[in-house]
Amino acid sequence: MNKKFTKIGIPRAISYYNNYPFYYGFFTALGLEVILSDKTTTKTINEGTKYVVSDTCLPIKVYTGHVVNLINKGCEAIFIPSIQSTNYKINNCSKIRGLPEIIRNVINVPFTMIEPTLDKTENISFNDFCFDAAYSLGITDKKEIKKAIQAGWSVYNSFMKMAKSGINYNEALDNAIKGKFIKKTIDIVKPLSVVIMGHGYNLFDERISLNLIKKLEKMDVKVFTSLNVSKEESLDAIDQLGEVQYWANELELTGTAAHYMLKGNVDGIIALSAFGCGPDSLMVDEIAYHCKEIGMPLIHLTIDEHTGEAGFITRLEAFIDMLLRKKRSKLAKKSIHENKLSYENVTIKKDKVLTGSLK
Ligand code: SF4
Repeated sequence: MNKKFTKIGIPRAISYYNNYPFYYGFFTALGLEVILSDKTTTKTINEGTKYVVSDTCLPIKVYTGHVVNLINKGCEAIFIPSIQSTNYKINNCSKIRGLPEIIRNVINVPFTMIEPTLDKTENISFNDFCFDAAYSLGITDKKEIKKAIQAGWSVYNSFMKMAKSGINYNEALDNAIKGKFIKKTIDIVKPLSVVIMGHGYNLFDERISLNLIKKLEKMDVKVFTSLNVSKEESLDAIDQLGEVQYWANELELTGTAAHYMLKGNVDGIIALSAFGCGPDSLMVDEIAYHCKEIGMPLIHLTIDEHTGEAGFITRLEAFIDMLLRKKRSKLAKKSIHENKLSYENVTIKKDKVLTGSLK
């Protein structure tokens, strides 16, 4: 074997958040050391912002900042895939499709870009994508590459199984990478549940999402995300709403929101998206339309590099407060109904119920 590199840098952004367990398993099985960029900070955002035009969305600025971070760490080979379509005519946005081109045009420092293409519309399969990456690294042994693909799926499937069971993102990732499998212990019932519709690269990046999941958990709110829903469930939910999948990451947004909306086991929906993102605005509008039809509350939180934490928390708290009041009122009505109270009693008991006995 004539391997050109011993290490590969992976930016902790965009496809990292969905695919890193696979990438890790795959590259490690090929005998490479995986170097990750550091977690996103304000410095990462500022660094990325210097290179790209100002109206580029935040996730791409962040991605650029991560590539700069890997270059500064001395990485000679950096994995920057072009994920065009994930199924026939199921496309990514132009920025994700053209990621290698964007980086090539804005970062004028020599390094080797490992830039495989995934494009199922053009019959370029995921296996082709993996072979392309391995060949660019100088690895040509087909048996070895096939074995590495299996190793990638093994880490990925273990991660997904843990995440779907309710283990949080970081814990599931950490354990999958260490080759461990843990089971979710008792699920505590919380007063409120919400589903967040958003890309993994926005939601699970704690700096971009301003720690949205932790903030909600501190407010005693149970949070569901795309990780708790299978691909089949998401597709089925989109279908049941009478919609069709067009965007590659629609499963994380419309599919996830639709799944919980139809199940009726959440009190509200939080849409998290980057300011100025075209695909997201279409998907959020689609879900907002269906929410209106069934009276499901939805808040749309947009983020960019200027988003302040104080305003973000205020909006979130106001939404959660509204959900709590709505739920109290709903439970009060249910309690009255179940007790089969007479109309006269309802007025008296309803007041009592609404003022304090329901939590
Ligand atoms: S989908 Fe939206 S947020 Fe994501 S890279 Fe494309 S434009 Fe940016």
